[in-house]
Amino acid sequence: MTSNKIQFTGAKKIGLSLLLLLSVPTFLNAQERLRVDYEIMEYMQLKSNDDTASAAIGTVGNGTLKHAKLMPYKGKNFIYFDRDSYLAGRGFLHGSVRNSVLTTYDSLSRALPHRYFNIMECSNEHGGEMFPHKTHQNGMSIDFMMPLIKNNKPYYALDTIGATHYALNFDDDGKYTRDPSVSIDFNLVARKILLLDYFARQNGLNIFKVIIKIELKDELFATEYGKLLKASDIYVVQGLSPLINALHDDHFHIDFGHTYSKTPQAESTEPFDRVPVE
Ligand SMILES: [Zn+2]
Repeated sequence: MTSNKIQFTGAKKIGLSLLLLLSVPTFLNAQERLRVDYEIMEYMQLKSNDDTASAAIGTVGNGTLKHAKLMPYKGKNFIYFDRDSYLAGRGFLHGSVRNSVLTTYDSLSRALPHRYFNIMECSNEHGGEMFPHKTHQNGMSIDFMMPLIKNNKPYYALDTIGATHYALNFDDDGKYTRDPSVSIDFNLVARKILLLDYFARQNGLNIFKVIIKIELKDELFATEYGKLLKASDIYVVQGLSPLINALHDDHFHIDFGHTYSKTPQAESTEPFDRVPVE
């Protein structure tokens, strides 16, 4: 099988998984996913990053990406959530976004050495449409899995289900509908968002927009770090279409922007659109 065929098959599979929004998670391959096997290593080597600065062209909803950088499949305290998605080439980012995210995880690993995180879908290597997402087109968007807790302890049993994670449902208080003893760790979500913005600014970026289910914002802002987030100038969406709203409960989405850069990249001067993206 050629690598093109693998990529095509993988992309199709992921797209279908997301589209169907399977409600029954499968726990097959849960442990398998944690292994960085030969195929993953070979892929990372094949796509190893060049030294040319990335260029985000256009907008998150209508754009492309040049000189993309691949997220590592796994780091000390994070892992990419779905092997097929990764091998289908959906884990690419603008280099400055990638650097901001990696520095954030480094910071989190020092502050919370036993807390682990999952990165969900990013962008294609050359950007452009990435079915079924409407955005994620220019390497400036990234989905982060919600960190969960159960009995005040980190809970990871839902982290290993791959693309079907997008279909998990949480109620308006952030409790997992199939097991309300499992809930979103909102304080950690807010803390991570603040760190991402802090390190993004060191890379000439900032968080342009956070997308999270509207009904969860109260819970998010009620936490210790959530209060800081609310007081910050980080924009958390105020309205979403019902479908997009319903999807952003198991993960939150961040669009990075160059808003605060003193020397915005020529390729990124097109203003981002703050209208809720569908
Ligand atoms: Zn997203």
